[in-house]
Amino acid sequence: MTNQTNTYIIDDKLYLNITDRCTLNCTFCPKNNGSRYVHNYDLSLHHRPTAKELIDEIADPQQYNEIVFCGYGEPTLRIKVLLIVAEYVKSHNVRVRLNTDGLANLVHRRDILPEIIHCIDALSVSMNASGPDTYNKLCQPALANSFFAMLSFVKAAREYIPDVTVTAINGLPGVNISACEQLAKQLGVKFRARQSGIVG
Ligand code: SF4
Repeated sequence: MTNQTNTYIIDDKLYLNITDRCTLNCTFCPKNNGSRYVHNYDLSLHHRPTAKELIDEIADPQQYNEIVFCGYGEPTLRIKVLLIVAEYVKSHNVRVRLNTDGLANLVHRRDILPEIIHCIDALSVSMNASGPDTYNKLCQPALANSFFAMLSFVKAAREYIPDVTVTAINGLPGVNISACEQLAKQLGVKFRARQSGIVG
């Protein structure tokens, strides 16, 4: 047990907070606005949890309806840990969802989807905008072409993973929610409008 929040429960789901790093620097990210709290959980990490720490905290995955990789960082940056933990959860027949920025293939410079499909049931990708200009303003990516890389990831993912959703946050400057919904339709995936500051 550590004195940081590696895992946290919301409703009947267990969320895994495996890293605080990402290649985006979103203007709307709570961590950029002085808060690392989700509900009453402080998601600040003193160290990045090991696979063993996460598995020990999960204990019996069947206590939960779903286990979700989601924190103030991008889980696929720790692909090895993600895989070990997701395989553990799947070995107990519990649904696994990955919340991601969709930039794993750009970051790792390879298609990581074939490596994760056996242990990920659902993917939720933060699309955030319907075009690169708004995306770049809102997300301030460190890597060039992030918006288009994210779209390519979504297109590739729908071939592998049955449940793919893209999300955007309602009410952010420049974000046209109906254009985002339309883009999701063109991509052949589901769309969900999120509320600012709400994790899930
Ligand atoms: S990708 Fe997520 S964690 Fe990273 S800056 Fe954006 S909102 Fe924050």
